[in-house]
Amino acid sequence: MKRCIVIGGGFSGLTSAVYLSKAGFKVTLLESSPKLGGRAYSVKDKETCDVIDNGQHILMGCYNYTLNFLKEISAEENLITQDRLEINFVDENFELLPLAAPKIIYPFNLLFAILKYKALTTEDKLRFISFFTKIPFYSNRDLERMTVAGWLKRENQSDSSIKAFWEILVVGALNTNINNASAKIFASILKEIFFKGNKAATILIPKFGLTETYCGHAFDYIVKKGGKVNLGESVIELKSNGGILTEIITEHCSIKDFDFVVSAVPLYAFNKIKKDPLLNIDLQLNYSSILSVHLWLKKNPLKEKFYGLINSPVHWIFNHLNHVTMVISDADELVKHGTEEIFNLACGELEKFFTIKRTEITAFQIIKEKRATFIPSNEIINKRPNTQTKLLNMYLAGDWINTGLPSTIESAVKSGKLAADLIINS
Ligand SMILES: Cc1cc2nc3c(=O)[nH]c(=O)nc-3n(C[C@H](O)[C@H](O)[C@H](O)COP(=O)(O)OP(=O)(O)OC[C@H]3O[C@@H](n4cnc5c(N)ncnc54)[C@H](O)[C@@H]3O)c2cc1C
Repeated sequence: MKRCIVIGGGFSGLTSAVYLSKAGFKVTLLESSPKLGGRAYSVKDKETCDVIDNGQHILMGCYNYTLNFLKEISAEENLITQDRLEINFVDENFELLPLAAPKIIYPFNLLFAILKYKALTTEDKLRFISFFTKIPFYSNRDLERMTVAGWLKRENQSDSSIKAFWEILVVGALNTNINNASAKIFASILKEIFFKGNKAATILIPKFGLTETYCGHAFDYIVKKGGKVNLGESVIELKSNGGILTEIITEHCSIKDFDFVVSAVPLYAFNKIKKDPLLNIDLQLNYSSILSVHLWLKKNPLKEKFYGLINSPVHWIFNHLNHVTMVISDADELVKHGTEEIFNLACGELEKFFTIKRTEITAFQIIKEKRATFIPSNEIINKRPNTQTKLLNMYLAGDWINTGLPSTIESAVKSGKLAADLIINS
């Protein structure tokens, strides 16, 4: 039986470990922290004892690699799904502006969703539709050096439609603003979301905390297939000889009995590991923060599962019944502020949008994720490394690998599957 070591227990590492276990490999997963999940995990809030996520994660119907992975580990039932796209945007004073596809045939249902979206004027809608119908025909070369802002301007998108639709989509999907994001990567996700059938554009939300949603299932799967998961096991050195990785040194032990290795850690963590210069990666990533404000209310008046906020520094609010979570993406400036200031901002927006007064809040928790995702700028998207490294038995996974996707769960899972497939077929 061939042995494989997977370094890192986030979505990418767990995916590699699961598919390698499925193919009959004996897998050992080494994870430096005491828990699985990487950047997508949940914890028990000390004050309220409720489970909260480190940051709300949403998936989309076009996340095919992720949905297959969740199915493989019997976790697909842990998602709340939609039949068709439905996002309830809100304007100040709780005015609902739904972007909802009616029950008619795709793609006309998406067209109708736009036509009925009240946040856009008739002229905006016409310009929007004219732009949208051209998207499948853009080639990568057309967009290679363009930012999303430049692209939207060239396509005559008005300031109001940028505010009421494009900025929200870009910041939600890419966790950066339209001036930083590459038009090429944005076009590729628009094609995935809106041109791959009705389900692709739907939004999926975990039913439970993230850890319960997938980490336990993946752990059980690996262990049942004879694999091991070592938590609190940080890899510090990779030793190689003659173009082959021969030894892995962790803080506690040295491992030599393996045939293949998948590194599924972020670039900044990979750079910290001592290793053969052949493994050096010539790539500088800039990261973008996500700020989550979890709030407990005396009485929760929210009816929908989530809302998008128009013209607000807060982008989304998710309704977990016993608490609500406000999400601020592209939050590099805001994460520098103290608790008091961030809480004040959250209270102000809650009152402005949902008429919920500060006195209704019984508890809160702020979580800052400073390196939540890398910024998909034009400078970096063509430099992302491929799965195979210069060492014969060593492969890379992680959302930053060359998957063609932004820094998302889907990119992480795709990278993990690509690494597993290369090993299985080698
Ligand atoms: C707040 C927040 C909100 C997000 N929202 C969304 C969303 O809504 N939708 C979406 O698709 N994506 C979202 N993302 C992005 C998504 O979480 C990531 O793209 C994905 O989780 C990355 O998985 P990964 O396996 O590539 O890396 P990671 O999750 O970072 O996993 C890497 C693992 O490697 C471990 N490790 C590091 N160094 C070592 C070492 N030396 N030895 C052993 N182990 C090591 C780490 O501890 C970690 O567990 C969000 C991210 C954040 C932070």
